[in-house]
Amino acid sequence: MNDQVERTLYMDHAATTFMKPEVVAAMAPYLSEHFGNPSSLYRFAAESRSGVEAARRQVAAALGATPAEIFFTASGTEADNWAIKGVAFANKKRGSHIITSAIEHHAVLHTCEWLEKQGFSVTYLPVDKFGRVEPASVEEAITDETVLVSVMTANNEIGTIQPVAEIGRIAHDHGVLFHTDAVQAIGAVPIDVDAMKIDLLSLSGHKFYGPKGTGALYIRRGTRIDTLVHGGGQERGRRAGTENVPGIVGLGRAIELATADIEGHNRRIAAMRDRLIRGVLDAIPDSRLNGHPTERLPNNANFSFRYVEGESILLLLDGHGICASTGSACSSGSLEPSHVLLATGLSHEEAHGSLRLTLGDANTEDDIDYVLEVLPEVIGRLRRISPLTPASCRMPENG
Ligand SMILES: *Cc1c(COP(=O)(O)O)cnc(C)c1O
Repeated sequence: MNDQVERTLYMDHAATTFMKPEVVAAMAPYLSEHFGNPSSLYRFAAESRSGVEAARRQVAAALGATPAEIFFTASGTEADNWAIKGVAFANKKRGSHIITSAIEHHAVLHTCEWLEKQGFSVTYLPVDKFGRVEPASVEEAITDETVLVSVMTANNEIGTIQPVAEIGRIAHDHGVLFHTDAVQAIGAVPIDVDAMKIDLLSLSGHKFYGPKGTGALYIRRGTRIDTLVHGGGQERGRRAGTENVPGIVGLGRAIELATADIEGHNRRIAAMRDRLIRGVLDAIPDSRLNGHPTERLPNNANFSFRYVEGESILLLLDGHGICASTGSACSSGSLEPSHVLLATGLSHEEAHGSLRLTLGDANTEDDIDYVLEVLPEVIGRLRRISPLTPASCRMPENG
């Protein structure tokens, strides 16, 4: 849209990540010579089978689980659907109440809303102004009918990390299953499914430098859960469909790399992120940080700028080669901004003026300098040309 662009600066790693060269290298043989169907009986197929089983061990090791508890899916979305629908239907005789939070990803929220239409009842827990679920509110919401609590490990928009271990303990103490959508947390929050009392956990390869269209569900041994995808006997008869062998191999290598040094990785990314946050809040008046000040993903910065509209910010940033995201949704035809920002108590105006920058492993201090140079200019320009009428949600003419 703008031929002045000299560079592309990718700061939208919560949307998706690039694949690391080691991941691509691990996948390559399975995209070419090792093409056998893991279900076939001849020796040639054993290569594919062992690639899948090695990945299963890599995922299990990253979660403190056993390989038998790992099931590969085609996305994080499928893992969320399977966990929630599978537990709801398998435990229907025990009860039909589910507890989740108001700020879950749509893969969880829309699944819960669909279950309500099937006769299940769902409690959507509120969050505080930082986006945290109060563990005591989980306990208060549990009834004799409750079969599942599903609260995400970390939020994809504002980066807030939930007190998952406390919530897990409460669910466990009441004999209720606990599912967590850990899609954003892998590689940033150390996971131990036993210590955190997690019964089901969803993850997605493309959020931690692995391939798109891959995911996994951890299912604690003995958990009562129905099958979501019916067909052949793959994944020990519990998730049908010929395995995405290269994708699974890539996901396995990616999770191994992402969890090798979480602490060191977080330290490096958070230092850049903190300089970005300080720089933005100092340079731009009427700006605020969304999400929790400390309990947040190391790569997440989410701001609100008053008097401007998120999609206008994105358009101008794109003109400078910067890829970012917003919780504003004007172009989608709905004037309803992000359910996450609204749940933290933001006004519609503040939610419409939001900007999410999520750092990744290839970002450098130079990238932070560049954003700190461009962003104040962009916000200033939008504020000069934009009428202070947030309700109209109008795009500036030269945006
Ligand atoms: C991206 C994401 C998903 C969906 O994962 P896909 O693999 O893209 O389907 C689910 N939950 C959260 C928190 C996410 O960030």
